[in-house]
Formats: sequence, C-alpha cells, structure tokens
Amino acid sequence: MERNNNLEKQIMIIINGIPASPGIVIGRVFLYNREEALIEERRLPNEEIENEIQRFLAAIEKTKSEVEEIRSVFAQEIGDEHARIFDAHLLILEDVMAINETINLIRKTHKNAEFVFYQIMRKIMDIMESSPDEYLRERAMDLKDVKLRVLKNLTGGRIIDPSEMQSNDMIIIAKNFLPSDTIRFPRDKVSSFLTDMSGETSHVAILARAMQIPAVVGLEIISEKANNGDIVIVDGYKGNVILNPTQEQLHKYIKKRNKLTKLKTHWDDLRELPAITKDNHYIELAANIEMPYEIEAVLSNGANSIGLFRSEYLYLATDELPDEETQYLAYKEVAEQFAPSNVIIRTFDWGGDKLSDDFTTHKEENPFLGLRGIRFCLQHPEFFKNQLRAILRASYKTNVSVMFPMISDIREILEAKKLLKEAQTELTNKKIPFNPKIPIGIMIEVPSAALISDYLVDEVDFFSIGTNDLIQYTMAVDRSNERLATFYQTYHPAVLRLIKKVIEDAHNANIWVGVCGEMAGHTPTALLLIGMGVDKLSSSPVFIPEIKHSIRSSNMSELKQLAENALKFHTAQEIKNYVEKFVEKLGIDS
Ligand code: PEP
Ligand code: MG
Repeated sequence: MERNNNLEKQIMIIINGIPASPGIVIGRVFLYNREEALIEERRLPNEEIENEIQRFLAAIEKTKSEVEEIRSVFAQEIGDEHARIFDAHLLILEDVMAINETINLIRKTHKNAEFVFYQIMRKIMDIMESSPDEYLRERAMDLKDVKLRVLKNLTGGRIIDPSEMQSNDMIIIAKNFLPSDTIRFPRDKVSSFLTDMSGETSHVAILARAMQIPAVVGLEIISEKANNGDIVIVDGYKGNVILNPTQEQLHKYIKKRNKLTKLKTHWDDLRELPAITKDNHYIELAANIEMPYEIEAVLSNGANSIGLFRSEYLYLATDELPDEETQYLAYKEVAEQFAPSNVIIRTFDWGGDKLSDDFTTHKEENPFLGLRGIRFCLQHPEFFKNQLRAILRASYKTNVSVMFPMISDIREILEAKKLLKEAQTELTNKKIPFNPKIPIGIMIEVPSAALISDYLVDEVDFFSIGTNDLIQYTMAVDRSNERLATFYQTYHPAVLRLIKKVIEDAHNANIWVGVCGEMAGHTPTALLLIGMGVDKLSSSPVFIPEIKHSIRSSNMSELKQLAENALKFHTAQEIKNYVEKFVEKLGIDS
C-alpha cells in the first residue's frame, strides 16, 4: 500500500532495536514492500497438462540463470564468501523432490503450475518457520526468496525495482529482507537497512556488516510506522531509530555524524599504530572471527591477532561436519595469515543457541543449561580429538593457542588436557609435527569458574572472559530473549565483581587475561575493562578502530580511577551512567 506523506501528520517516533551494523546515518525512508505475485488457481484441460509442466520447468531454468547472475554480481561486489548464500538458492532450485512433487501434483490435480508450486513451498516454509531452531527459521527466508522468483517467472509478476529510487540517502525499511534483496539496491543510494524482524545473526545483519552499511534489526513496528520519504535517523551503534526527528534531534545527530566522519578518517590513520594509552599502557586488540574469510576485515580494521575463532561455525555455516583435514586447512589458513601473531582457536561450542540436531539425541528443555561447549566434547572424545589434532597440526608454527569453552569445573580442564595429550601422542606416532607447548586457555563464562579462578590458574596459560555468557549465567537471563533485554545488565555489580576477581587471580598467577564478549567491542565497557586491568580485548573487527581510538585518547591512571569508582555503586544503572558520562567527557561517545 502506498502511503502519502502529505495526508498523514508526521509524528516523531523513537524505536529501539538490535544494533546489527555500526554507523550513524540520516536519510529518507524507502519502504520495500515486496509485491507477492498474484497466485491464480486454474483448472487445466487434459491436453494442456504437459505444456504446463514444460512451462514450470522453463521457469525453474530461468530462475536458475537469474540466481547465477546475482551470485556473480554479489561475488564481484561483496566477495565470494558472501555470494555462497546463493548456492543454497541454487540447491533449492535443483531439489528434485520439490520439482517432482510439483509435476506430479499438476498431473494429479490438473491445477496450474504457480498454484501447485506455491502450495508445496508454503507447506515446507510453514514447517521451517515454526521450527524452534533459529537457523532453520532463517533458512526459510532462502526458500521464500526462491519461491518468489519462480512465481514471478511463472506469472510475469513484478517485483519492486529498487533502482527506481531517486535519492542517494535511502534508508531501506522492510519487515524482513531476503538474502538477494540486499544486492538489488544500488549501493551508492543505500545508507542503511532497517527491519521489523531478524536477529543479530540474520542474513541482513551479516551482509550489512560485510557491506559496511549501518543497520538495525528487530525494530518490530518500523515498517508500519514509517512512510515513504520520511526523514529518519539511524544509530547503528546503539540500535536506536528516530522517525521524523525534531530539529533539535537532527542537529544533535548531524553533529554526532560529522564528528564520526572526522574520527573515521583519523581511525584509518591508526590502523598500523598500537593500542596504547596516553601514559604508555599497551592493550592487545584482537578480533573475533567465525570463518577464515573474515581475515581481510580483521586486517583492514587494524587488529593485532585473533582472540577468538568460534570454530563451531565451520559446521554451522555449511551444515556439514568438518573432518580433521578440513579443519586443519581452515585453522592453518588463519594461523599463516597472522603469524607470528597469536590465533586462539576455541574448541567447538555446540549447544545453547548453536544447536545441532546431528548431535542431540533428545531435545533439551534448557539448552543454555544443557550439554554445551566442553561438556559435549568430553562426552564425545573421539569427535573432540579429531578437532584437537587439527588444531595441534595448525600449531606447528607456534602461533596457535587452544581454548576450551563453558568450563565450570577444574575436572573438565583436566579431562580436556588428557585428551589433548592423547591427540599429541597420536600425532607423534604418525610423525606429524605440532607445537608440544601449545598454550592452553579457558573461557571464563560460567560464574562457578569465575569464583574458583584462583584454583583454575594452575591448569592454564590464559583466561578469556566470555562476558556474553557470564552475564547470562550470573543474571539468570536468556541472552537471546529480546523481551528480557532490560534484565540482561552488563554493568551489574555482580558481573563486574566476578570480572574483577578473575583479573586479579590471573595476574597473581602471572597469566594474561582478556575479554572476548561484546563488552570488549563497545567503548564505555571496553575502557571500564581496561581500567579493571584486562590485558587484551577481542571483538568483532568492525569495532576495533573505535576502541583503538578510545584507548589512544585515554590515560591508564584515569581508567583505573574510573573502574575503582564504578565498582563502588550498588546498581547497574548508576555504574552505566557514571561510565558513559566519563566517556562523553573524553569526547569519544558514539
Ligand atoms: C561469550 O560468551 O562472551 C563469548 C565470547 O562466546 P559466545 O558469544 O560464542 O558464546
Ligand atoms: Mg560464550
């Protein structure tokens, strides 16, 4: 439905969503209402059946060549790794079962191809969309994308052409985006993507970050409230969106945006410089990655090393369990790119929201409290040793460390180390080289581990605090439940006390301690952590330039004072206000 600006009073609305890709932009709304092709139901006479089947097969072939073309444009513009999303589309188009089922049903019911195909696709999508598995729900979007294309080719239906966009500061708003939608918009005209639905791990979030276009997702009502042409402010750092802003808000954000633009030019100059405070305190800035193809983004954002390689994504991205050789090649690729800098490979962290049906014999009521991380690996020692051998093999050039997730007890570390020893013996027997002194670390992300970190120090070479989970388990709040967002209190004194204890215990034992949760990627929390004494911060590569800039604008003595004072407050809100005020005074709020 076209909405007319002039007929409606423009009301200022602030909507908070989930920040998906950082940046501040001001632009005009372009509502992307995909026109579903109109599906007619027709009964065909006998003599038309075979023609109808041919028409259907021709539409499938045409769609395939369209998708192949989009894939190649995508590969050229964004990179081959992201273009792989369209391989999934091609697979759907080659799915013999769905095609045969459509052909059989056309023959059986004498109904037209689009009607039959639509029914079949709808049935499959209903199952996927109602699945409790977030990954499957996201994949339903791939199916929807393909379904629309085939229907368009069958009906001659029109899909909105974004190249009709006039202006070059368009904020594209939709209920949700299909993977191929993002590439349909001319890049020079799009300044942001906003969606009602989706989470941080959705395609639109991943692609927006890859395209470096600011995005906010999970805005719930934005597509209802926005009108074409409305002015909108997007804060991709905080996840705030202001529709029809006041003059005052506009001025505030124009100032903020201009400041950021200046800062960004400055950030580029910082790429090769160390993250060092004004009073000469060095902090190692590392990057979190999920796949080897992110190396380029890591290097271009000026990270020193890899602080967290979430190895489970090797499986989650392809849905195939990587064997020892595949894993070895992936780990080796990253290790070689960063040598001699350190690459920390975290062993598989299945479970929680990263569930895999292949490995779960029964559905867990509380997956975050279930057979997750190291617990799963210790129950499947052969599977675990496969990965340990791959990591060890990649470690022979000595810049690889291994890290165990979800440690809650000393026994788990001892068992994991025993299996690591076995993997080493197996490699020695086969005369395969590895680093026998590979550094061993653990994630501190369960409160029980934080509370006994003074015992755990004896067993490991380093700690990496996983604040995403540490907050979840300390506050008893499901980290993926948007409705509980206000209970998920990053600055809660209990969380900070645990972090402080872990840092002190690590330093008393002369081992280094880092943070690799989201707290490490946001300026206020990153500075607070540095003041508390962490040696290393590891975050998504896009956040690194700003963090480096913040560190280089600060004095360690002041950050220490900030941490000391912050820990005296009794509530998360007071601490948050205090820390944010400090950052504001430094003039680096964003
Ligand atoms: C964490 O829990 O903070 C962390 C970095 O690990 P993940 O987000 O993969 O659970
Ligand atoms: Mg974690």
